[in-house]
Amino acid sequence: MFDSRPFRPEPGDPTTVRHSTLHCPTCGSHFDAVSAPDGSRLARLPQNGDLTVCWYCTDLLVYLVGPLGVACRIADAAELEAFQASPYARRWLAQLQKFKARKQL
Ligand SMILES: [Zn+2]
Repeated sequence: MFDSRPFRPEPGDPTTVRHSTLHCPTCGSHFDAVSAPDGSRLARLPQNGDLTVCWYCTDLLVYLVGPLGVACRIADAAELEAFQASPYARRWLAQLQKFKARKQL
């Protein structure tokens, strides 16, 4: 039986959503959650085609969500270009990099 609802809220943390363990296609790191880098609550659960950033290597990834669950792939050139053209996305990535520098991760 497949998981028709691959995302679930993190108990006690309204800013984090858990999913099955994925492997970053760029650096191979494992990750099983998504959250906003500014600590805000996510506006909605991730959808197929939504972008995310690997916490470890900060490469841009794309969620693949379907009846078999969730996976991810590396963003293609057009997705990277659209991401870099978005002021919100640039701020978002800058917040992540600032947070990582503060935490020395
Ligand atoms: Zn990575």
